[in-house]
Amino acid sequence: MQPSGRITGLTGGGSDGWDVFLKARRMIAEGVKVTELTIGEHDIRTAAPILQEMHRAALAGHTGYAAVPGTASLRDAVARRVAERTGVPTSRDNVLITPGGQAALFAAHMAACDPGDIALYIDPYYATYPGTLRGAGAVPQVIRTRAEDAFQPRADDLRAYSKGARSLLVNSPNNPTGVVYSDATLGGIAEVCRTDDLWLISDEVYDTQVWEGRHLSPRALPGMAERTLVVGSMSKSHAMTGSRCGWIVGPEAVIAHLVTLATHTTYGVPGFIQDASLFALSQGRDFEAEIAAPFRRRRAIAQRVLGGQNTVGLIPAQGAMYLMLDIRATGMTGEAFAYDLLEHEHIAVMPGESFGAAAAGHLRVAMTIADDAFENALRRLCAHAEKHAAR
Ligand code: PLP
Repeated sequence: MQPSGRITGLTGGGSDGWDVFLKARRMIAEGVKVTELTIGEHDIRTAAPILQEMHRAALAGHTGYAAVPGTASLRDAVARRVAERTGVPTSRDNVLITPGGQAALFAAHMAACDPGDIALYIDPYYATYPGTLRGAGAVPQVIRTRAEDAFQPRADDLRAYSKGARSLLVNSPNNPTGVVYSDATLGGIAEVCRTDDLWLISDEVYDTQVWEGRHLSPRALPGMAERTLVVGSMSKSHAMTGSRCGWIVGPEAVIAHLVTLATHTTYGVPGFIQDASLFALSQGRDFEAEIAAPFRRRRAIAQRVLGGQNTVGLIPAQGAMYLMLDIRATGMTGEAFAYDLLEHEHIAVMPGESFGAAAAGHLRVAMTIADDAFENALRRLCAHAEKHAAR
């Protein structure tokens, strides 16, 4: 029996851009000491008090089927958080709790797009995006940004594709570029969505990791609350990647349909995970700043190290746990450089090309190892680039 074309075609065929990462993992399995700057995951684990609350909730019996839309208390807490941070009135009826941001991205596109509808997304992009859009039955259409614009999308480039499209997916703070969209960029995005009647799907899973500028949720812009689905998650803000707890915030009527979708797909999120997430959210902004602090520190380290040389360029590192480095001065592709760096320096980074054509000649570096090791790896990366540039 053949599996469906929908599932076999999910990744669009060809390399999915993780070859360097997989090679690094093979080297590690063979006993080679590799410095890994590849994966977007904290080098700390979920804080003990959150796990204790998870344990308490499970022992207290919150292990049966939980309410499919999410527990009332967690939906309320998410609604309060969003209302406080964006000024947009938000109630529990605007919130669906999902098994992580990834499930929320899929569900949001199921809600926005019919089969065959064009779903726009921005290059460079988080690696799962095109497959997620295809999985929801949409036809992904990529819109390229430019390194010289620090990968901020131009409204004119959006307009070239927005007529007849159904949705636009944006992500700020951005993975992989580390860029935070400016108010002007978000204003342009909102204008295009209003003019061409698009759903905006706003992936804000890095909203607590902002080093420069401010995070503006486009749902707060005029006329946008009715056409925006915000994707949020506990993964990055609270170091709870393995707990799989996220949400969609959107118009009540769409959330009601999304509850029906959840009833027929995920059947919700475990109650003890939701209770632990509620506890985590109740720790407030100081706790979120503590989780983000290592990345803020390492970003400062990177600015210092990269400021001392001229070969490797740093795309303004404004948010999220990544740096986007421009290595075009070496004359190499990101992929060739990443393989070379892995082979000679045993440092694993992601080639920019893994995240779309717009990031060719760049590298994504995850700031997810201890400060000293991070600084050392960056210095070696720069020295390696200088050697190539001098050839
Ligand atoms: N969106 C972006 C931009 C991400 O980088 C990630 C994870 O790396 C996700 C969504 C999904 O996160 P999760 O499903 O853990 O909430």
